[in-house]
Amino acid sequence: MLKPNINYANLKDSYLFDNILQKSNEYLRKNPEAHLLRLGVGDVTLPLPEIVIKALHDAVDDQSKKETFHGYMYECGDPALREAIAVYYSNRGIKIDSDEVFISSGACDELADIIDLFDISSNALVMEPAYPSYVETNIIAGRKIVRMKSDEKNLFMPNPDKNTRADIIYICSPNNPTGVVFDFITLKKWVDFANENDSVIIFDAAYEAFIDSQDLPHSIFEIEGAKKCAIEICSLSKTAGFTGMRLGYTIVPKDIIRAKMSINEMWTRNRLSKTNGISYILQKGAMAVFSPEGQIQIKANLQVYKENSKVLNNALDKTKIWYTGGKNSPYIWLKCPGNMNSWEFFDYLLNNAQIVGTPGIGFGACADSFFRLSAFGNPEDTKEAAERLIGLLT
Ligand code: PLP
Repeated sequence: MLKPNINYANLKDSYLFDNILQKSNEYLRKNPEAHLLRLGVGDVTLPLPEIVIKALHDAVDDQSKKETFHGYMYECGDPALREAIAVYYSNRGIKIDSDEVFISSGACDELADIIDLFDISSNALVMEPAYPSYVETNIIAGRKIVRMKSDEKNLFMPNPDKNTRADIIYICSPNNPTGVVFDFITLKKWVDFANENDSVIIFDAAYEAFIDSQDLPHSIFEIEGAKKCAIEICSLSKTAGFTGMRLGYTIVPKDIIRAKMSINEMWTRNRLSKTNGISYILQKGAMAVFSPEGQIQIKANLQVYKENSKVLNNALDKTKIWYTGGKNSPYIWLKCPGNMNSWEFFDYLLNNAQIVGTPGIGFGACADSFFRLSAFGNPEDTKEAAERLIGLLT
């Protein structure tokens, strides 16, 4: 008789965004005239840049003619796009070969698949609060998870602990949900730890494009030694508004060797088995993102979200609330005032300021006294939310 994967029974129900929606709808039912300001979900709100739209239209037209029609694409990605991404790195002083770049259907899919590379006896170290996929994909796989708590004492940027075994190490920077960007010194400690212990770092750089400060790393490969131990997972979702499009890329260096096996060759082999490539049309859209004009246009959109972050930071600076993030990141992570837990604060903000945010509990039990605000909303609503926050919390 078929035996299902019983690890699914170990997953907690994912009620977070459902609950947020239900509570918001219930509030609107009772207060139909209310203008809710939604700073909860981390989805982009601006349309795709013009140059990307044009590339997508052109690619659709290509598919209408025999001479330009494309069937199956390469499993690891269009060589031209892989090369364009290698150039994107080299423009930042990082040498990546194009066969170390893998085009994906987004960071989330990739986070789920990448753990195929590791034996089930390897454990996964997750620094909490964390993007839920790191924990959930490993629960489904039946892997042991080591949860490393972080808090305001270590500014949500923990150091490695030499007494804790960690085989697969997740680092998200800029971090979702805390908005914290790992600095060079801390990342170097993790890279050294990984190399000393034969671990592999999965570096989630989905929010890399939000970094403006010159003294913060965009990529783990800015750290000496990282090419021997780190895989970098990136996405055009937040960088270029591709959440509804689905395209990302992953860097798997050829220098990572574990048990005499090349992780890059294993990942190439994995892709040959598990995908038939990413759609021609989407890859054309992505090529436009990496063109000089594309970079200008995506930066104009990013600037809107960055201004939103500033507006929210300025508002919180006027209150006595402890917070982090919002600089070099689209997320602001604040401590719930008055000893409220994160759902209590959610209700308090909804009822008293008609602001919808995300309770910290959704990112790990240790985060229940924190709350996430997102800068992906529209600027008018964000400004209004800032006013209401000042009014309510000062
Ligand atoms: N990684 C982090 C930290 C995220 O916050 C998200 C999405 O919110 C993802 C990965 C998934 O991105 P994608 O849309 O590329 O699947």
